[in-house]
Amino acid sequence: ARSLGDKKEKTLGMIKPDALDRMGMILDMISHKGLLVTKAKMVLLSRAEAAQFYMEHQSKPFFNGLLDYVTSGPVVAMEIMGGNAIGVWREMIGPTNPSDARSQNSQSLRAKYGTDNTRNAVHGSDSKESATREAEFFFPSAGPSRANTAQFSNCT
Ligand code: ADP
Ligand code: MG
Repeated sequence: ARSLGDKKEKTLGMIKPDALDRMGMILDMISHKGLLVTKAKMVLLSRAEAAQFYMEHQSKPFFNGLLDYVTSGPVVAMEIMGGNAIGVWREMIGPTNPSDARSQNSQSLRAKYGTDNTRNAVHGSDSKESATREAEFFFPSAGPSRANTAQFSNCT
């Protein structure tokens, strides 16, 4: 296993339903950037689960459309670890709107795989606080669902 040095920041990434068929390329890009996927899970979110995950947006006009989108098929949640993982992953995914993403850096994941403001291919935590909350949402550290999570024992 490669060394992660002393900077083991973690973030929560999610491949949204429209980009599931790009999972291989997304995983390749993560490893090329020197980050490591330390947990991963494919899940079909219920509407209530999606609403909980995105609760900060519950009063936004796009909330219902966002829930339609992220429950339209399975997502892949990933705990991603490495130096400055939160910022590096946000940089890799690009701006929320894929058309902005395409005008900034055509190599970002949203530039390459996003369609519109809602269907933008991937999610990334925007802060340490949201990374902790979102990782706990998909990979609870206690309780029965822990039996369903796999992890690299040398990384956690
Ligand atoms: P990000 O995912 O870049 O952190 P936000 O947290 O602001 O963006 O929004 C969460 C998700 O809601 C976005 O990734 C996108 O799928 C959707 N979304 C955000 N803004 C809009 C919008 N103006 N119209 C439609 N959908 C949006
Ligand atoms: Mg956000």
